[in-house]
Amino acid sequence: TFGRLVVIAGPMFSGKSEELMRRVRRATIAGINVLVVSHSLDTRADIATITSHVGMNIPAVPLSDAPSLAEAAQTSDYGLIAIDEAQFFGPDLIPVVDDLLGRGIDVIVEGLCVTFDGQPFEPLPSLMAVAEEVLRLTAVCTICGRDAVFHQRTDHSDLAATTIDARHIGGLDTYVARCREHFTSARQ
Ligand code: ADP
Repeated sequence: TFGRLVVIAGPMFSGKSEELMRRVRRATIAGINVLVVSHSLDTRADIATITSHVGMNIPAVPLSDAPSLAEAAQTSDYGLIAIDEAQFFGPDLIPVVDDLLGRGIDVIVEGLCVTFDGQPFEPLPSLMAVAEEVLRLTAVCTICGRDAVFHQRTDHSDLAATTIDARHIGGLDTYVARCREHFTSARQ
């Protein structure tokens, strides 16, 4: 039987990592052999863990590209492979995920589906199109509190305009979550 594909997608701060961790924890309790993979480019935290913006973390194997993921998947009889920050792997991830599903492994792919300038960010949109389940999350706009589907680079003046005081949380010094109305980066 084929594996099942779950995609968790959204902008930064939308809770993608939290949701991935929640699902991985449940699978582990169920006795499933889980491989959690991160990308070695993700410098948010300790290289061998996934860390959410609220500081929770779980162990993960850092890999540099999609072929390394295909290789790592061979090392044990995995029931579930969970991929964090999948956008870093690029479009090469798509055939690798297909292959894992074909071998009967369930796959959770989590990552950004939008770039900081508001464009679709492959491979997430393509994987969303063929997934059994898609969880499309939004963050909270730091100006008005509405649903944020975008994140954008910030500078000091943007930070001063932030009404939600979470400046100590990792990532907020570089990017902020923005709703459609307050997202400006693509229109400047
Ligand atoms: P992602 O993986 O999507 O970047 P995380 O799971 O790492 O998101 O972090 C989500 C958490 O970040 C939220 O539960 C919340 O505590 C915190 N957070 C900080 N800023 C925001 C924001 N603007 N909108 C929503 N959550 C935020």
